[in-house]
Amino acid sequence: MTLSEFQQLVTNLAADGEKLIDAATTTTLLEDARTSLLGRKSGRLPELFKQLPSLAPTELREAGSLINAVKAKLETMLDDRRRQLEAASFSHRKVDLTMPGRRQWLGSRHPVTLVIDEIEEIFRELGFTIALGPEAETEWYNFTALNFPPDHPALDLHDTLYLGENVLLRTHTSPVQIRTMQKYKPPIRILSPGNCYRRDFFDASHAPMFAQIEGLAVDEGVSFVDLKATLTNFANRFFGKTKTRFRPSYFPFTEPSAEMDAQCGVCGGSGCPTCKGTGWIEILGSGMVHPAVLEAAGIDSERYTGWAFGMGPARIALSRAGIPDIRLFYDSDVRFLEQVAR
Ligand SMILES: [Zn+2]
Repeated sequence: MTLSEFQQLVTNLAADGEKLIDAATTTTLLEDARTSLLGRKSGRLPELFKQLPSLAPTELREAGSLINAVKAKLETMLDDRRRQLEAASFSHRKVDLTMPGRRQWLGSRHPVTLVIDEIEEIFRELGFTIALGPEAETEWYNFTALNFPPDHPALDLHDTLYLGENVLLRTHTSPVQIRTMQKYKPPIRILSPGNCYRRDFFDASHAPMFAQIEGLAVDEGVSFVDLKATLTNFANRFFGKTKTRFRPSYFPFTEPSAEMDAQCGVCGGSGCPTCKGTGWIEILGSGMVHPAVLEAAGIDSERYTGWAFGMGPARIALSRAGIPDIRLFYDSDVRFLEQVAR
């Protein structure tokens, strides 16, 4: 092939290419044009490149720069045309600027988790650390070490879910207190949140699985004054300025024991459905750790004393939001959870 023949072919290709690109009215047609012009397999331009070796060596430089210039020109034209077509298709699209935006769907923490987090935050500031333990426990950690007599009704199969001989699903988070006292020397200040299991009916106020959060403080010279002061401080932080009262109670693992009530925040103490007309809301159970419990965990009860408390975050979340049925917390109905989550 002579140089002039080659030049003619390249010029023809440039002219045809220009027509083809101008004629493409959609991006699909434009893509077809690109393939027929530059496509690696059988595009016209690559075919011409294959002709280069048939030229005389002295003509190669001129032929090469010509075909490269045409290639660059076609590529630029293809890109420009693409941009043109895309802009045109966008401006034809109907855009209604008055349409409301689409809301981002965000999840949130569960209302019970929120209560646990808030309680943890308050006690962390008072120097308590978080301690966790297993949900499958031995009878010894769950009952014996906590001063339950062997014939206590809680050990009955009707109340506790047993996994096997002496192994059960913990009925409270108190075994964590024993495990902590075995592991660390006083002073001890821990908070233990976690799930517990009891063979309860699933009704408006009971669930077979529920969250609990307990606290324990052990040191030399710790007294009931520390218990009252700390828990009253907590109630004021958690519920806002409120009155508290302590009522004598009984637990196998504390002596003396007391229930703490806070004045009802809904009615201010005058009585309403939330507080069942009493003006008070039960918040937690507490007491001085029984010396037998300290001894079971290997702590000298002559030298050290301690106090402990436990509460149900679900119950607190219920009374705080005025929710009548505990099952709502476990139903996973987003319409409900959205209302109480923050
Ligand atoms: Zn009330």
